[in-house]
Amino acid sequence: MNQSANLYPVKPEFAAKSRYTRERYEQDYAESVAQPEAFWGRIGQRLDWMRAPTQIKDVSFDLNHFRIHWYADGELNASVNCLDRHLATRGDKTALIFEPDSPDQPAQHITYRDLHARVCKLANALRGLGVRKGDRVTIYLPMIPEAVVSMLACARIGAIHTVVFGGFAANSIADRVADCGSKLIITADEGLRGGKKVALKANVDAALKMPGTNSVETVLVVRHTGGAVDMQMPRDRWYDAVVDSQPAQCEPERMNAEDPLFILYTSGSTGKPKGVLHTTAGYLVFAAYTHEAVFDLQEDDVYWCTADVGWVTGHSYIVYGPLANGATSLVFEGVPNYPDYSRFWQVIDKHQVTIFYTAPTAIRALMREGEEPVQKTSRKSLRLLGSVGEPINPEAWRWYYDVVGEGRCPIVDTWWQTETGGILISPLAGAIDLKPGSATKPFFGVVPALVDASGQILEGEAEGNLVLLDSWPGQMRTVYGDHQRFIDTYFRTYPGTYFTGDGCRRDADGYYWITGRVDDVINVSGHRIGTAEVESALVSHPKVAEAAVVGFPHDLKGQGIYAYVTLIAGEATSDALHKELIAHVRKEIGPIATPDHLQWAPGLPKTRSGKIMRRILRKIAENAPDQLGDTSTLADPSVVDSLVKERRVP
Ligand code: ATP
Ligand code: MG
Repeated sequence: MNQSANLYPVKPEFAAKSRYTRERYEQDYAESVAQPEAFWGRIGQRLDWMRAPTQIKDVSFDLNHFRIHWYADGELNASVNCLDRHLATRGDKTALIFEPDSPDQPAQHITYRDLHARVCKLANALRGLGVRKGDRVTIYLPMIPEAVVSMLACARIGAIHTVVFGGFAANSIADRVADCGSKLIITADEGLRGGKKVALKANVDAALKMPGTNSVETVLVVRHTGGAVDMQMPRDRWYDAVVDSQPAQCEPERMNAEDPLFILYTSGSTGKPKGVLHTTAGYLVFAAYTHEAVFDLQEDDVYWCTADVGWVTGHSYIVYGPLANGATSLVFEGVPNYPDYSRFWQVIDKHQVTIFYTAPTAIRALMREGEEPVQKTSRKSLRLLGSVGEPINPEAWRWYYDVVGEGRCPIVDTWWQTETGGILISPLAGAIDLKPGSATKPFFGVVPALVDASGQILEGEAEGNLVLLDSWPGQMRTVYGDHQRFIDTYFRTYPGTYFTGDGCRRDADGYYWITGRVDDVINVSGHRIGTAEVESALVSHPKVAEAAVVGFPHDLKGQGIYAYVTLIAGEATSDALHKELIAHVRKEIGPIATPDHLQWAPGLPKTRSGKIMRRILRKIAENAPDQLGDTSTLADPSVVDSLVKERRVP
């Protein structure tokens, strides 16, 4: 594909007001890799420390001396950094805007002062219930302010929170509780999504009947919908009954920089979820600094990230990054298509959102419904758009840019992982020209490299496996309870480097293009073909809404290409369209990328966070539906059955 024709240069009007210009980015980047200690020492000063660190970086990826320590002798408290230190200057500023599931319910504006009081009260209540520094607390809540309050209350008393996405069922809760041995669970009577009730408390009850969960002593229940629940005394306590009468001040725990802040399980697109552990100082420095720089944060921005707090994006870019920066962060309980497909854009108009951060899966779903639901809203307040979670196809990128942003707002396509704590590759909108589908350039202090299968580093224009040659403060420190799995998963494959598991291409301008998971890069007759590229070609056809591409064993070519295609609303499948799509891919990429099989897919198997689970599609393509592996994180398992039934026989 010709990429140079697809350059969106930095807009001078944006650069004039933005935090980073091209020169500043290049200068700071060079310093950040040449002198990481000096650089991160300076950036670390953005936090309020109880004891300022003198040791900045102490890292070795060498397995004989393996260690990752940042700011190791520093002491601080994350909740103090997100709340207390703003009170003098931003006490009356809105910290959280809460937009409920139903637009008919009133929105809430919670100031920094209110949020501080709510966090202190819950923190006192948790202490009263016997929760101590280092104890694990599971948070299983809808997207309501109490979710944020709970995370910060844990941080205040040094408890390690572990948020479980509210869309998970009992067995997923039980697995995670058993893995980390939590002492207390904070949940709600019910959740509300798209007008439908979710039986959160009942799911917790069912989970706590499962083996391995008897570490849990207390369940705190937020009254949200008012729906009936079974309260099992003395284990279950109403949140308001325990919290409301507490004092609104709470002495924060002094935490060492490397004390754990939270455990979060990955989304499970490649296998059994890992309990990723992040520590206090490095994570917070990195979340706050990336949030400010990548989103070009200004004091009066209204910032909205549509992720759920159950994912790392919600942790870093709804809660910790924005609040450490004293920003206004919008918390949305609902879904993009309720009451209709205009909801996102209506919320943007209602709250005058200036920065909007969402996922390609949402963009593709909205694009499928056409422009009308977007165009009936104003969106004039928007100035910056962001994308995260999967490679964004150039087609979806352009729709986001042209239709949603009306050609006015730069898009930051941010590549990162639960493991990385924050954004590692992304444009800075005032500094880096955009290319649709490319996450562009590394963030400060990030040293990406491409390696071939033998671990040889590839220079210049190249395609290979994406590794990171040095540490950054937000890097995960271990897999909870299984340090060996941490080492084996990330540091053994290409010794001396952190292996991301992603395939990537670097173009002649030094731009990075994530091509998909390494397991999903297809080797056709010796040519490496990224699933993302074939998918983008398919989605660029006007009748295609979404596509997923996997490899399957092929007698002659080694691997063949198997494509699953979802058409846009109202389009019918036909043999003629089938041929047309195959010809379309040949034309867009070349004959080498011709799909061997193309199957119509009314829906695709996705994780709860909206990522396509290609490993399941691979098993279906290989005709091994009995080997699907861990499917507990699938959003809708019935999709799989219908794909198995409709499989095209290779
Ligand atoms: P698991 O590790 O359990 O399989 P997961 O990798 O889906 O789950 P996350 O940490 O949420 O869990 O996702 C990180 C992955 O998402 C990255 O490794 C990458 O494959 C993909 N990703 C995230 N953002 C982008 C992006 N902007 N462009 C391309 N890929 C992205
Ligand atoms: Mg992963």
